[in-house]
Amino acid sequence: MSSFTAACGSPGSLCETTPNFDCWKCPVTTRQIRIIEFLYRKNKNIAERVKRYISKYLGMLRESYGNDFKLKIMNFCGTHEWSIVHFGIRHVVGDRIDLIPGPGCPVCVTPSYYIEQAIRLAMDGVRVYTYGDVFKLPALKGYRGARSLQEAKAKGANVKVVHSIIHAAKDAREYGRDAVFIGIGFETIAPGYAEAIYKNLVPDNLKFMSLVKLTPPAMEYTLEVMDKISGGDKPIHGIIAPGHVSTIVGAKAWKIAADEYGIPVVVSGFEPNDVLLSIAEILRQLVKGEARVVIEYTRAVTWEGDLKAQKVMNRVFEAVDTAWRGIGFIPKSGLALKGEYARKYDALEYFGIPDLTPETWKYDLPARCRCAEITIGLAKPVDCPLFMKACTPERPIGPCMASMEGACAVWARFGGSGLASEIAREIGLS
Ligand code: SF4
Repeated sequence: MSSFTAACGSPGSLCETTPNFDCWKCPVTTRQIRIIEFLYRKNKNIAERVKRYISKYLGMLRESYGNDFKLKIMNFCGTHEWSIVHFGIRHVVGDRIDLIPGPGCPVCVTPSYYIEQAIRLAMDGVRVYTYGDVFKLPALKGYRGARSLQEAKAKGANVKVVHSIIHAAKDAREYGRDAVFIGIGFETIAPGYAEAIYKNLVPDNLKFMSLVKLTPPAMEYTLEVMDKISGGDKPIHGIIAPGHVSTIVGAKAWKIAADEYGIPVVVSGFEPNDVLLSIAEILRQLVKGEARVVIEYTRAVTWEGDLKAQKVMNRVFEAVDTAWRGIGFIPKSGLALKGEYARKYDALEYFGIPDLTPETWKYDLPARCRCAEITIGLAKPVDCPLFMKACTPERPIGPCMASMEGACAVWARFGGSGLASEIAREIGLS
């Protein structure tokens, strides 16, 4: 029997039977224990075998890199960071491997300007539809005392939290007056937006603020920055490429990292053994001196991706240079509505809001917030002086704490994976 008990101090309470994924106050819940134990114990033999490979490859790499080597492996997906923290993967792989969170959260990189505009619209009576994490996203500047859509709603503004554009479209059709949907997301969600718009499921009174970001250009930007900073040393030794995004764009989207930067890339699934296998494959390539893209997440990802989804996205959207919060403009890293769809649905156009340009964009993170560096792998949440002091999931100061997928929120919620580490140790994985 496991020696682990719920550390939330409330076994038998609601959280015991109805796990609440949003509850950061119970970072070590019964749910976490159950999931970690289930996934590790059920697949213990596989995990042990993969761990043995990881140790073997690390031993071989020690011979070429020397005793003090440290390999940097970066992930580009908030859910991978979640898995890594939640399942204690950092502990399982040991301190020779530095697992770095990268740009994996679309909410975190949405410029403050657009949230400020959404707040203004809502306060002025336009109905604003948004996802739950965008609802809490703090803007740099307030409007009539509101610094987030949540605060605006508390002051009586017209804000509705929805779970999809279809949900917003249904409501807006009944509402019949001016409304706007905040279209945040990566490539995973963009086909859903495109399909709804293309199939005319969105009523004319619902405008679309397209804040969709593209992951491959962000990866390239990150690698360029890290390359410059490292002054010639290899800044990243391997990439765990995003599984969800790759279902749409295909594994081919990451080829540039392997071909031009010589970095092994593995498109990974999200269970602990997926991530461990992906790390083992990166190490195997390093041992062999290879750099190529391998799909570990074969149950969902192909080389070409979802061609139908790509087609509908290309019908409705076009790639444009766009601003990332705290970072600035990255070429061709966003999606804007095009042609007839822009004329019919573009929220900025309809409400006469000037779009950001490289000239008008200004640094838009709060003082001392290190989200931008965290986003491109130059810092970790614990490097921020505000982490879990002034900035908590309950009262986020920066965007990486507001979204469930933000690295700061993930690290805050799962408390540095202490419990997962304990379980991994107990079953002999570390
Ligand atoms: S802890 Fe808060 S203030 Fe610090 S980097 Fe994260 S989001 Fe920004």
